Amino acid sequence: MRPSRLVAIMVLGVLVSTSTADLAGKPQPVTEPEAAAWLHHVVPLPKQVAITGRVVVAPQQVHIVTADTAPPLVAQAVRELRECLGQPPDGPATQSPVFTITLELGSEAAQALASLKNADQAYRIVPDERSSVLRCVAREPRGLYYAAKTLQQLIRARAEARQVSIPICEVTDWPDIGDRGLWGSDACDHLRWLSDRKMNYMEQIATSRVTEDKRATVALADYKRVMVEHGPTYGINPVPAIVHLEQLYGHGLFNVYPELKGQGGKEGAICYSKPVFIDILADWIVGYATMPGITEVDVWMTENLHGQGGCRCAECAKTDRDMLEARAIVAAWNKAKTRVPDVGLRILTSEETADGNEAVFRELPPEVKIWYYHSLLTYTTGEEPMVLPALVPLAREGRWAGVCFNICAFVAMAQPFTGADFIHYRMREFAKKGMSGLLGYSTPRLGYGLFNVEAVAEWSWNANGRSPREFAFSWAVREGLDDPALFTEWSQTLGPVAWNVYGSDWPAGEQRKALANVARQLKEGKLPELGFVLWGVYRSPWGDIKSAEQLDRDVVAAKHAVTLARRMGVPTYLQESLIVEGYVRSLAALWSLRSIVTPDGIAEADRPTAKRAFRDYIDSLDQARTTLPLWEATVRKEHEANRYTDKAVELLGEMMAEMKATAADLGIQLHE
Ligand SMILES: [Zn+2]
Repeated sequence: MRPSRLVAIMVLGVLVSTSTADLAGKPQPVTEPEAAAWLHHVVPLPKQVAITGRVVVAPQQVHIVTADTAPPLVAQAVRELRECLGQPPDGPATQSPVFTITLELGSEAAQALASLKNADQAYRIVPDERSSVLRCVAREPRGLYYAAKTLQQLIRARAEARQVSIPICEVTDWPDIGDRGLWGSDACDHLRWLSDRKMNYMEQIATSRVTEDKRATVALADYKRVMVEHGPTYGINPVPAIVHLEQLYGHGLFNVYPELKGQGGKEGAICYSKPVFIDILADWIVGYATMPGITEVDVWMTENLHGQGGCRCAECAKTDRDMLEARAIVAAWNKAKTRVPDVGLRILTSEETADGNEAVFRELPPEVKIWYYHSLLTYTTGEEPMVLPALVPLAREGRWAGVCFNICAFVAMAQPFTGADFIHYRMREFAKKGMSGLLGYSTPRLGYGLFNVEAVAEWSWNANGRSPREFAFSWAVREGLDDPALFTEWSQTLGPVAWNVYGSDWPAGEQRKALANVARQLKEGKLPELGFVLWGVYRSPWGDIKSAEQLDRDVVAAKHAVTLARRMGVPTYLQESLIVEGYVRSLAALWSLRSIVTPDGIAEADRPTAKRAFRDYIDSLDQARTTLPLWEATVRKEHEANRYTDKAVELLGEMMAEMKATAADLGIQLHE
């Protein structure tokens, strides 16, 4: 899919040799390739955009104009535009301007935006006939803010010390998905970065407690308060989350209210038949809703009772547990609304509520927003549709629904993943199925995977705009890489291999001690076929690799990616390549062992092949193991005390030891 309109019109006329000073303020032509190159700097790519020329002026000759009564987000748009031009953010206004940018809220020109999806965020940019004014128009402040973001990216791209190029452009733009955000991690440290990419939502787990004198208290850790204090400034909606309800007991809930402890069921299960819990939950909602800048609270339903169920008291036993919980949350919200009438409610599902989701969705008041989350089904990199089928008709009826999903390779293990195709696939599914929001999780730190986060910003706004290849190229331009085409080739070579590997939960799936590790499965002749996914959820070791040909192709591609990365000369990408190449080569070695190791051992004739394959398995994992910390050193912040790759390093060491032991059991001496 190409940008729907990417037109560059040559401004015809006789341009005699003139100095820059003579050209100041006069429109100059922009060729089609120049316009396309300029647009590489814009992310997300606007839906409809045509750069028809440019005006070169001194930055202080640009006048930014808006109404004196502009709402805060429009005033912020003005500040950011001035900042981008090197002008004092808070004025004074430019004297004798040569070029003017106006920000107009709700003017007649904005009426055409009314029919667009998420019209509150839609905007237009139009030049006047003389190309001396760019008018930004929108129906709501957020739309104008985003018009300003687009212009900032274009202006910064061509800014020089004493002059800037203002694009003479026509833009009509709006997002496919309304709420685009992240939760957790260090997202709070990246508010402006996220906002510059038109991300507009953030959640953090808040601290919901009950004191010994029975007061329900609310708090946000200092680093999370940033989201509340500064998020709205940048158009980011901060939403505190009340953690999965069965996890509240750790904060003393049952010490103060022993009657709330579920009768039977898993530790932490709450008795929802006791009205006092509704009072406590209502107090928490009110506590958060009265913090400045907060308009909504998200209550996370119980995450996992591990088959032990919830409270079994006579009253609770009458109703399905998930329904009882949902009703308690809604009752608390209704109670909270008597004190804070406008507070909105979101509910996040879980694997525990999976069986009850549909019934709960049907009963929830229509204005309650639904986040679909399931630790196995929405925290997966597997190449499978993710949206719960029951949500699709609801979304079509206009119900607000969104997905909480992973952006990184695997949420509980730090590994590199430049995955344009992966994110493209997810975002297009969410947009196509009418999701209203997305809540991404990028661990352990955003800096470990900025490419994927930016890709989320790209396609959640414009799902049918850039292709993965075009996005990778534009990323490389924005990053200022020496050879964007080479980066693109690398990204499109390694990315799909990494997606196959991580989509197979490799190697992270080996952490699941409840399942036999691959060394044992190999020895017992129980390694599955390629493409096998256990119970529809456990994808290790090769759930997303469907054929031997695909595996072979991936090995060759990964090796090629290492070569491309060496040519690029950027350590982060070289190390990422070596890690992924190590992973996929270990899978190829494991697959070859699968055909020669039988429950009766290894045939004499196969022993040399087996020895080579065991060695290759261990060596390739060792390659990944020794490279992970080198990769981390290139992405982690200096002040960061933690080394998040330690877990993967340790796991890979265990996997190597397990396979060495298996080889020895089978009579293969690897040290000869
Ligand atoms: Zn009960």
